[in-house]
Amino acid sequence: MVQFQEFLKEPKIAYFSMEAGILNDMPTYSGGLGVLAGDTIRSSADLKLPFIAVTLLIRKGFFNQDIAENGRQSESPVSWEPSRFMSLLSEKVKVQIEGRDVYVQAWLYVVSSLTGGMVPVFFLDTDIPENAPDDREITSHLYGGDNRYRLKQEIVLGLGGVRMLKALGFQIKKYHLNEGHAALLTLELLLSYKKDIESVWDERFIWDTETVKDLCVFTTHTPVEAGHDKFPYDVVKEVMGEPIPFNVLRELAGRDNLNMTLLALNLSKYVNGVAKKHGEVSKSLFPGYEIHAITNGVHSYTWTCESFIRLYDRYLSGWANEPEVFVRVGRIPDEEIWDAHIQAKIKLLYYVKTTTGVEMDPDVLTIGFARRATAYKRADLLFSDLTRLKKIAQKGRLQIIYAGKAHPNDQPGKKLIETIHGYIKELKGIINIVYLKNYNMDIALKLISGVDVWLNTPLRPREASGTSGMKAAHNGVLNFSVLDGWWIEGHIEGYTGWSIGPAPSEFKLTETTDTKDADDLYYKLEEVIMPIFYNDRRTWIRMMQNAIGKNAYYFNSHRMMRRYVTEAYIR
Ligand SMILES: *Cc1c(COP(=O)(O)O)cnc(C)c1O
Repeated sequence: MVQFQEFLKEPKIAYFSMEAGILNDMPTYSGGLGVLAGDTIRSSADLKLPFIAVTLLIRKGFFNQDIAENGRQSESPVSWEPSRFMSLLSEKVKVQIEGRDVYVQAWLYVVSSLTGGMVPVFFLDTDIPENAPDDREITSHLYGGDNRYRLKQEIVLGLGGVRMLKALGFQIKKYHLNEGHAALLTLELLLSYKKDIESVWDERFIWDTETVKDLCVFTTHTPVEAGHDKFPYDVVKEVMGEPIPFNVLRELAGRDNLNMTLLALNLSKYVNGVAKKHGEVSKSLFPGYEIHAITNGVHSYTWTCESFIRLYDRYLSGWANEPEVFVRVGRIPDEEIWDAHIQAKIKLLYYVKTTTGVEMDPDVLTIGFARRATAYKRADLLFSDLTRLKKIAQKGRLQIIYAGKAHPNDQPGKKLIETIHGYIKELKGIINIVYLKNYNMDIALKLISGVDVWLNTPLRPREASGTSGMKAAHNGVLNFSVLDGWWIEGHIEGYTGWSIGPAPSEFKLTETTDTKDADDLYYKLEEVIMPIFYNDRRTWIRMMQNAIGKNAYYFNSHRMMRRYVTEAYIR
């Protein structure tokens, strides 16, 4: 068992994230943000970066999804035993919540790489006997409860996290805030670096914002105003008290509400969005701030299926720790790429058969769509015109695999799952469609490697980056996607995949593009994608190679972390 003391030797970069997808069996993540945190940690371990991570334990897990016959989602807690995976450290720190002392303890999980690199991850837990029953639940549910519950979690993560690292004896050279959830850590830093009242001529200058800024890196993930965490100051006062005077806090975090994004923006020297387009969108949301862009990536080894791992090991030695080697993908013979793909496809279809009873055909063009079920992702765009879709499916065969959880409070998201179940029934006998339950990292790997085409139809500019398409590319699966997020950068039409709808420069953000997007989706599916799939296998495999050699080559978290190091951490 590795002890945390081993990591105290050198100063670290401390990465704070509300959720983290480390192992499939540790349900401490809900979707893209958490999986990205996991990939960030895995690449940091591979690259032997001086890196540690802080997150919440989520003792009751991000829920188990059940879906009734009619498509109605229901949720139940996931029971999991943290001690099976990690060890509880003895240090306890406290934070003040509603005037009470709330104790926080940490579990240690060490992510170890084959390169010898290791990254300790600290999972904060308030479920300890010293705490009142309600406080013991603060780290139980991911994004559960109300605004007040969320604020308590963010106090534990931000203030509790910094205090914990201090108690453990860490020296931190940068704090990386993965989304605004962790922004309260800046308040703890302001308190730590407070100047002596005698040394300044005005009381306002005891708050050393410059030193705090030098320590903080902030990555924003939310491209719309409504998505940013905000707390009314009366709630803040009741829950958190006034660790720093409210007149100071209001200047840093907004007049009317404590806006976590503003707080992070004002106290971080380096700020970035998660794709080039998202960087620009963020600048327009927060005029006057310098916002850079580091486009996301995925952890190549984690997101490559077994048959492609074997293939890459044979032809592209060293690829896992140096994904740039994908540039030599042309060395792999066509038939071996196709073989590896068919193996992944058969594995997925076997999973479909055993979980849903539906038999799918490996010779049929298979489309995959899986992500959080929420309105802006428009999972139902494919069904906008059923007559047209049926006609397309009569010309060439088609089968579709869906998956995705809706957040328990997201009624439109839940409705979407029901709607899709309605279409599945309606199209029965014409198009084989299934909806897999309980989307998680294991199912994601099966899906992104086992389908032929990975479909993504978000409403622009809501897809800050998107990462599942990058995973698909690692397995030669072709992206067919709206031009938003990473795909604006990864897309070369008919070469790495296909776009849906107008280019980002060709429409206004206020314009609804549903009809145009659906029309283009049907047109390309019928006239471009199906003809290549069924009649021109050579071109299809050429495109698979391009997805690997151009997209996986670039959209991986090793490249992403090297950029964080050179552009954010060492400045
Ligand atoms: C990769 C992944 C996501 C993120 O996918 P997007 O396309 O970015 O929405 C969500 N959930 C799981 C389980 C994943 O593996």
